[in-house]
Amino acid sequence: MNCSTNKDAIETITTHYIDGAFVESLGREVMDIIRPTDGRVIGRVTLADEEDTRRAIATARRAFATYGRSTKEERAKILRRLHEAASVRLDDLTAAMVEEYGGVVRFAGLIVQSGLNAFLAAEKALDEIEWTRSWGKTTVTLEPIGVAGLITAWNANALFICLKLASAVAAGCAVVIKPSELSALQTRVLIEALHEADLPKGLLNVVTGLGNVVGAELVRNPGVDKISFTGSVAVGETIMRDGAATMKRVTLELGGKSPTILLDDGNLNEAIPTALGIAFLNSGQACAAGTRLLVPRKRLEAAERAIAEAMRAFTVGDPADPKTAIGPMVSQKQYERVQSYIRKGIEEGAELLVGGEGRPEGLEAGYFVKPTVFVNVKNDMTIAREEIFGPILSVIAYDSEDEAIAIANDSRYGLHGAVIGTDVDRARRVASQLRAGRVVINGMTDDPQAPWGGFKYSGVGREYGRYGIEAFLEPRAILEA
Ligand code: NAD
Repeated sequence: MNCSTNKDAIETITTHYIDGAFVESLGREVMDIIRPTDGRVIGRVTLADEEDTRRAIATARRAFATYGRSTKEERAKILRRLHEAASVRLDDLTAAMVEEYGGVVRFAGLIVQSGLNAFLAAEKALDEIEWTRSWGKTTVTLEPIGVAGLITAWNANALFICLKLASAVAAGCAVVIKPSELSALQTRVLIEALHEADLPKGLLNVVTGLGNVVGAELVRNPGVDKISFTGSVAVGETIMRDGAATMKRVTLELGGKSPTILLDDGNLNEAIPTALGIAFLNSGQACAAGTRLLVPRKRLEAAERAIAEAMRAFTVGDPADPKTAIGPMVSQKQYERVQSYIRKGIEEGAELLVGGEGRPEGLEAGYFVKPTVFVNVKNDMTIAREEIFGPILSVIAYDSEDEAIAIANDSRYGLHGAVIGTDVDRARRVASQLRAGRVVINGMTDDPQAPWGGFKYSGVGREYGRYGIEAFLEPRAILEA
């Protein structure tokens, strides 16, 4: 993509990636890219319109006619090339995430790495899938679904692009990606890198634009067979509804209000920093953030003291500094949203243990908020029910294990959960009763072969490993008389 590299000039992006080349945008609307640490304009991106999107879809359809018949071995080679090409730019990608949305560098690096790993994980998963099954005169094969529209959220844009692209390519699909419009700089670095993978022309197309323009065109265009979306519940509902007109297959990775259950045998010195780490992932701007901490009432006072103490490690500041735990919110809008939830928590009777309204001292320029812990929260309060997407933790007391499970499950969301305790068998028993797509025990951990996705309003379908690839496949049965 065209971009100026002169340090004094702001970066400008005017192209999309269509048919294996960077091509000038037909859409003329220009959007500022704003750095969240100081609110300054650091770039400008020319946004795609419907016509750019339709060109990309037509190109992907042409590529699918050939690529849809590729072998498993050919797809494996492509996945390896994608991994190699993207890996070269790991540091640049991490730096772009820090600059563009204020992701803290210690977390941004992990996010990018897990995006890169997705290509290798998909290659491995190719061997786990039973592509053909036969019995009697019947043969069932798994066929690529067609052209996939991949729509991403800003908070881990590079990871989502890599993850969805890896699964789609492994399945034999061609793609049109609509990255978050808040991620144009990161997307440019990633696509420059992926361009070097020398893919079949038209297999990968990327159009940066607004959701209600480019995203909506992907959703309604009959040339797109499947939408894989990561973002908010509100947009997920729109995609499901509008996609019905062309019978779109959908994978929706939506929001969360995830519980962390601290069991009464937990060692607070370890358990509390672990729980806070899960709550404040990606400065609290993570779908999996454990933003409801369920604490046994008989240990509540000790837990509150431990939280107040441990919060000192959650320093706010420059996201490029490896010591910083919490960076700015992505935008002024997100800053205001977080402030409004802090006010709502106070109004509804929750008590502030740490943090509160306003900016932290010395950080008045950007979209920084104070990491905030509310105690005396009831699970029916707004701050315990709605996804805030900021560093705001609600501590909720419980009296019995059964009550903890009931509170954890009393949410419209079901994306993620955590259980922390010394007796691991007991922790497993509790974990097995949580209505969530993923539950971690005694710490945040990942497995690129394990499914990722939500129960209830947290979404439809799964990503990662073979589960992610299966979401881009259709079974076809051939029966002989
Ligand atoms: P968002 O829903 O505002 O935007 C997501 C994407 O959808 C963007 O690319 C946007 O341009 C596009 N979009 C907007 N309107 C559209 C429309 N009408 N049709 C098609 N596309 C449209 O979400 P966001 O603010 O970017 O991300 C935050 C949300 O994403 C949070 O709710 C978070 O929990 C969720 N999320 C979920 C996961 C997960 O894996 N489950 C991961 C990360 C983020």
